Amino acid sequence: MTTTMPPNPGTQGLLPPADPRLHLTSPTTTTVLRIQQRMLAAAREYLTGAGFAEMLPPIIGPVTDPGIRGSKQVEVDYYGHKYKLMTSAILYKQASLLAFDKIFCIAPNVRLEPLETASTSRHLAEFHQIDVEMAGASREQITQVLEELVRHIVRRVVTESPAEFEQLGRDTSAFTALLTQAFGHRTHAQAVAELRELGHPQSEDAEIDWTGEALLSGRSPQPFFITDYPKGSRGFYDRESATEPGVLRNFDLLAPDGYGELCSGSEREFDYTRIVTRMRETGENPAKYGWYLQLVREGIPASAGFGIGVERFTRYLAGLDSAWQANAFPKLPGVVSP
Ligand code: AMP
Ligand code: MG
Repeated sequence: MTTTMPPNPGTQGLLPPADPRLHLTSPTTTTVLRIQQRMLAAAREYLTGAGFAEMLPPIIGPVTDPGIRGSKQVEVDYYGHKYKLMTSAILYKQASLLAFDKIFCIAPNVRLEPLETASTSRHLAEFHQIDVEMAGASREQITQVLEELVRHIVRRVVTESPAEFEQLGRDTSAFTALLTQAFGHRTHAQAVAELRELGHPQSEDAEIDWTGEALLSGRSPQPFFITDYPKGSRGFYDRESATEPGVLRNFDLLAPDGYGELCSGSEREFDYTRIVTRMRETGENPAKYGWYLQLVREGIPASAGFGIGVERFTRYLAGLDSAWQANAFPKLPGVVSP
């Protein structure tokens, strides 16, 4: 085991320091950001090497990802039109496959999360994702890309950052199972049954709630996938199974040791009629999605993809209490910040 850093005023508490100078100059922050910088370099190295083209996605558009349970979108005035800040890159990821078969982007997302999420250790109102999309891929193929990507990142960061891990008191034997064993798998229905056995009242129709997520993650020594979420729990773009109606061909990747969800992904819906039906079922007005539905009607590739939360992944790597510690200018829900 290694020595931990001495307490660091301004970064140890539940909230980020109000003074950005305190946060940016704290030895913890600079150490964490070095780890994050290597994590992003390793992600680019793996994805570029595997033939994925890096795209620069827009940050505003007439519509954005509506599948953001409980959080609100931010509106901007675009020459008199109501545009949105991106809550995720999903619509542009699908569209980008018209240019390249395999794409990725690393971009900020803004979601006004409910005030009570300020204390989950996992939610920011502004965060970043490593977003990947691959034409023609099945869920099995894209989860394999994800698993290899995660393993590559962790291996590179552990090799390159012994001093940083030592400074943070993060014992890198925590990554042994991740580096040497296949990730776990369970279905949403199995996760619900497991949680109910533990006495947690998880709904079978909904996303695994935060308490449930932490419970399952805390019991696992290695990362694991949860697959097959029920239709009502996700956006219109997660493809429904052709053989099991009501079950989506999607997945989450959860970190071990209580760190919770790192990534969500899916095979995508690409058929015009099914997308419009799913939009209506999820309470979305198809008329708002003009440019996207026009492309879909004329044809976009079948695909699968995922989005990894950069701050959540950094939190897990660095063994941090909270995701905000992995952001240079953290915005906790409801907290006025730079
Ligand atoms: P989602 O599509 O909502 O699953 O978001 C994709 C990934 O982004 C999640 O798996 C998280 O790692 C991350 N993420 C989502 N919302 C937040 C948030 N409010 N703060 C920090 N990270 C987030
Ligand atoms: Mg998710």
